[in-house]
Amino acid sequence: MSETPTTRPAPKQRTYRKNQFLFALIGKMKLWPSRKGILHGIRTMEIAGDHAVITTHCGRTFTVRDSRTSRASRWLRNKIFADPCPICAIPEWKLKKYQGTVFRKKSGAILRAEGGGQ
Ligand SMILES: [Zn+2]
Repeated sequence: MSETPTTRPAPKQRTYRKNQFLFALIGKMKLWPSRKGILHGIRTMEIAGDHAVITTHCGRTFTVRDSRTSRASRWLRNKIFADPCPICAIPEWKLKKYQGTVFRKKSGAILRAEGGGQ
């Protein structure tokens, strides 16, 4: 474990592996890029097999399929979104963290889905 510095820590750049399953990705980031280009904050994600029911902070609920190649995972990796959702009110630090996240093909952390229903 590293010590907590008294000064502000330098912004850490995170690197994640590119081809990951959607649930692992959104389970970690807790962000959802909608089809309209709005970035929502995920409140809950309930995984049931290869589907997950996602509820955003602004109260939308929808079902998504786990996939490495879905629109959502591609948009999330490529940071395709116009605006963060005003109702979800994603905190600034979270957006910064997201912006500082890099996706690489051959290096970076491999994520595991959290909160599975097992
Ligand atoms: Zn929202």
